[in-house]
Amino acid sequence: MRLGIFGGTFNPIHMGHLITAEQVREAFDLDRMLFVPSARPPHKPSPDLIDGAHRLEMARLAVSDNPRFDVSAIEHERSGRSYSVETAEAFRREWGREAALYFVLGIDAFLEIATWREPKKLFALCNFVINSRPGFPFDQAHQVLSDILGIAPPTDAQSIALPHGRTLWFHDVFPIGISSTLIRDRLNRGRSVKYLLPGSVESYILSHHLYSDKENRS
Ligand code: ATP
Repeated sequence: MRLGIFGGTFNPIHMGHLITAEQVREAFDLDRMLFVPSARPPHKPSPDLIDGAHRLEMARLAVSDNPRFDVSAIEHERSGRSYSVETAEAFRREWGREAALYFVLGIDAFLEIATWREPKKLFALCNFVINSRPGFPFDQAHQVLSDILGIAPPTDAQSIALPHGRTLWFHDVFPIGISSTLIRDRLNRGRSVKYLLPGSVESYILSHHLYSDKENRS
């Protein structure tokens, strides 16, 4: 089993997430790509963060037409803050030692990884796919790896050997300048978000009056 683990706040999920995930799934020949919406992210500022049940439901709607995509509620089933290392440990227990786990994230998120809980342990549990994202060059990632793991890979390396036989890849995806922040901002101003996210997600947002009504915020 080759399993992608794609974490995020998905507040809301958008085409940048979906296109990126599909490109990674294909490039790394993954059997499944699991989207894992964070329940209580330790780092993201909270005023704009809507209830996890809505974010989960929108993610489910967004992936429903892709048989290789799925949504995991694992971080919603745990109490307390959502730490990726605990999620990866749980998937490792569930899928066993033989499963190839690929932790998928954008370079913007990777550059923050030193602030996550037990990043070294996370590197020991999974392979890593670091995706390009407009505005965030890959080159600072080497300093992050050197700070956490004490390794100094060549700056032009496309893949890097991690401890415990795991690998980290820098993966170029189509540049897509869509973010959840952009979508929330447009909704707040009553602007169109058509084609920035799946139609089913847009309908869900509009019918539940999300991102335009402060009462929906957690
Ligand atoms: P926000 O604007 O609220 O910070 P976001 O658009 O960055 O949200 P997240 O849910 O925080 O979305 O992102 C989940 C993961 O998806 C992260 O690893 C992030 O780097 C990646 N990602 C999000 N948007 C894109 C994009 N347009 N292209 C490539 N990767 C992306």
